[in-house]
Amino acid sequence: DIVSPEPQDDIELAVEGALRPQSLDEFVGQHKVRGQLQLLLQAAKLQDRTPDHILLAGPPGLGKTTLAMIVAHESGRPLRMSSGPAIQHAGDLAALLSSLTPGEVLFIDEIHRMARSAEEMLYLAMEDFRIDIMVGKGAGATSIPLELAPFTLVGATTRSGLLPNPLRDRFGFTAHLEYYDAGELEHVVDRSASVLGVDLDAKQRGEIARRSRGTPRIANRLLRRVRDWTLVNGSDGSVSIEGVRAALELYDVDAIGLDRLDRAVLKALVHRFQGGPVGLSTLAVTVGEEADTVESVVEPYLVRIGFMGRTPRGRIATPDAYAHLGIAP
Ligand code: ADP
Repeated sequence: DIVSPEPQDDIELAVEGALRPQSLDEFVGQHKVRGQLQLLLQAAKLQDRTPDHILLAGPPGLGKTTLAMIVAHESGRPLRMSSGPAIQHAGDLAALLSSLTPGEVLFIDEIHRMARSAEEMLYLAMEDFRIDIMVGKGAGATSIPLELAPFTLVGATTRSGLLPNPLRDRFGFTAHLEYYDAGELEHVVDRSASVLGVDLDAKQRGEIARRSRGTPRIANRLLRRVRDWTLVNGSDGSVSIEGVRAALELYDVDAIGLDRLDRAVLKALVHRFQGGPVGLSTLAVTVGEEADTVESVVEPYLVRIGFMGRTPRGRIATPDAYAHLGIAP
């Protein structure tokens, strides 16, 4: 799905690697978070200690992994990467923690998906740089304490509400990443275009930014499709505004970043159910999709841009949705 905020495949992840800013100065937008991180890293550097543990919270594609890499880079420390789903037993975490070198930055993506038993081990590790390893079972079980090298944990989560309080409380700083505004996304597109060797003017950058749903990952993906279109169809290899529009229309991304499914849901809501309220599962059946997909993929963006409302009796279309579809309410 071209406007999904999640990475589509490993190839995309590799391309993203090349487009990642390396320093806080290169990181676009998120001024507040950047300032807060800068202070935290500088203070740690002055005292020659490991920076506090950092939690990065926010929707996918807004730069959490990128910031984790920047934390390691700016503090001149090595980075170890793991993720919640890869830590299914306390033993997985014990192996990871005990192999860290002094001062290493440990990044755990999707930290809310880590096993409960590992979470408990992490509390002690974060606080005292120590873990207790249980050996044996039943009455003969004993715990052996193991000292760890000091480290900085950078956790990322799209669902900070799912983190248990004791874990959340052990982070010295929580950064909440916000969706990017159009100007910031233009800046992201500009930066990525120069890395990819694509020449864009302000109008073309604006056209891509407006369709990127506040998300740098989507902006970069749309930019790559525009580059492809220009390579194949462009007359002299240079990008034109018509080319930008044609490329994005080919992938069914409309002027404000809605795709085919988003529009199908809106149209069903407006035409079949006279604007609602209608239950989510009925709406999903009407467009031939799983209720889960409509709820987790389509609805959040439509609600965020004020096109759909959630009421106790079901989903409704707002006047803005009618206006976008060109229909009188
Ligand atoms: P997340 O971990 O939150 O899903 P990533 O850090 O993997 O997001 O970012 C996705 C893509 O968007 C990467 O290619 C990254 O370089 C780009 N990106 C994210 N935030 C920014 C930013 N502030 N400035 C420039 N590029 C960004």
